[in-house]
Amino acid sequence: MPSIPTFPSVAFLMATDTNGTITSNGTATSIAANTAEQLRLGVIAYTAKVARRAGRPVELTIRGDTNRYQVAVHPDGYTQEIGKDRTVPDAPTSHDRQVARGLCRSCKRIALPSYNFCCYCRTENPLTRLQEISA
Ligand SMILES: [Zn+2]
Repeated sequence: MPSIPTFPSVAFLMATDTNGTITSNGTATSIAANTAEQLRLGVIAYTAKVARRAGRPVELTIRGDTNRYQVAVHPDGYTQEIGKDRTVPDAPTSHDRQVARGLCRSCKRIALPSYNFCCYCRTENPLTRLQEISA
């Protein structure tokens, strides 16, 4: 049962079904997508990128109007619910994992949360539109 450290972590505050704000390491970024599903995938993709830099799963806190929950996001975008003791179950090996996939916002071909760039059209962050918010 690996435990998930509190740093680095990512927080997502949902504004509407298709946009919100992501904060990580003191940097706030607005994130927008065409659909709620695409937004969800984009938040996971953003967090997976932080996990790739950390070299392990990181904590993602999602807050909406009334709910708040925490998941661990692995470098490939695989997600697991974090338990009250801050641990997650042992993850399945990578080829047994179910990782959600979406469509590139530019060319509409398959894009995974583990992609920094679309492998077809080279669009950066293919699932969502990201814009850093200056302090
Ligand atoms: Zn593309």
